[in-house]
Amino acid sequence: MSTEENSGSRHTPRHGTRRPTPRADSPRASHARHGSAPQQGSHAAHRHAGPAQHAPSSERTQRHAQQHAQQGTPQQRGARHSAEPTPEQRAASQRSAAERAAASQAAAQRREAARSAYANASAPRETARRAASLRSQAPRSAMSPKDRRHNPVASFFGGLFIFLVALTLIFGGKTVVLDQMPLTPENVLFSFTSTMGAIPAGVAQLLPGPHARLAQTAPEGMAKSATVLAAKVSDAGKKLTAQKQTESNRSTDFAVRAGDPPSNTQPSDTKTLYLTFDDGPSDKTQAVLDILDRYGAKATFFVTGIDQSHADMIKVAHDKGHTIGLHTYSHDYASVYSSVGAYFSDLDAIGQVVKEQIGYVPCFIRFPGGASNTISANYSAGIMSQLTSDVQARGYQYYDWDASCGDGSVHDADETAAIATEDSPAVGMQNVIMLLHDSATKQSTVDALPRIIEYWKAQGYELKAIDRDTRISHQGVNN
Ligand code: ZN
Repeated sequence: MSTEENSGSRHTPRHGTRRPTPRADSPRASHARHGSAPQQGSHAAHRHAGPAQHAPSSERTQRHAQQHAQQGTPQQRGARHSAEPTPEQRAASQRSAAERAAASQAAAQRREAARSAYANASAPRETARRAASLRSQAPRSAMSPKDRRHNPVASFFGGLFIFLVALTLIFGGKTVVLDQMPLTPENVLFSFTSTMGAIPAGVAQLLPGPHARLAQTAPEGMAKSATVLAAKVSDAGKKLTAQKQTESNRSTDFAVRAGDPPSNTQPSDTKTLYLTFDDGPSDKTQAVLDILDRYGAKATFFVTGIDQSHADMIKVAHDKGHTIGLHTYSHDYASVYSSVGAYFSDLDAIGQVVKEQIGYVPCFIRFPGGASNTISANYSAGIMSQLTSDVQARGYQYYDWDASCGDGSVHDADETAAIATEDSPAVGMQNVIMLLHDSATKQSTVDALPRIIEYWKAQGYELKAIDRDTRISHQGVNN
């Protein structure tokens, strides 16, 4: 069906009577006179009205002539008009009026029938036309899938997306590859951002003439931004990798290995203070960690099993980058120094506590009372000489101290601070290991700690945690 036929059949039922009469020589005029839809109405009218009422004009002319013949010549009609009509004439006139009334009534019936048939025949088309009108006014989301498929805007953006993906594959694949890099999230992000930076250059290669110059200049900022972003992502990835590497290094380097104790006796190139906290963890550990954080200082905790309720602080301290060492589980001189076997049994106990927290048994240890203690002689003669040798054979290393804050016997913050700072004989040493305590009874140490840190920092010391490269500090053995 052509468009012309379609529109004609749509509009004829509603506007047929009001539409201007088409020109006789136009195709539309032909449709108006001989269109298929009106013919249905005509057929219906024929059935109701009968052939006489719809006779061709030649028939009507013939019948008119017969009537003329019956009525005589014009002269005869004029003579008769002046006289009274005959009964025959009256009867003929009455028949004629009855015929006209019947014809008029039949014509009205014919028009009504035609209109009704017309409406019935065109109803489905009218419904379809209204539905189409509603669809065209409806929002896009209400459109049928078929309508959406022909949406030019959607087609444009769909094509653009495919185009960009193709560019990414063509040019991005050439410039940035992952084959030399581990498949980590940061590397994938790095590759993606680098690819985004390569797309403008790819566009410039594709476009001809002035468009190529435009593409080369306009996205330049985008390319630079992508490069900067990629560099940042790469740096972040490297830092993350380094941090993971440090974690990995600590779990392997700091773990005890038989026959391989830390052994450096040379001081570092820089002035370094190693704060060491014995006897923890305790209810003071968190306060100590907070102060260390405030100054960006690292320290070492030689821990015990005395206060198991704060065992989790071992991991907290370790996660912050502090070093965990072993001090013994019970810290009971009578027990740990009763025999070599008793000592190592106690050392293993605290080693397992620490391993549960940080995943490994550290190689750094401190004897209760230090290697120089004489109290051990009360329980076992010569045990410190034996232990200082045996622990290293098992892969441990013990660290005594070069200076103390005196908090083992002093419980005043001001005095503690003074002993640990300007009164300390260690001031001026290249590397200083300082003894402090982390226990429930040592609030004075917590109170003095900020002043201690500030003093040594002011002297140019960096505060670090012990590691395998720390200069070993050994006191003389006296038992
Ligand atoms: Zn202790």
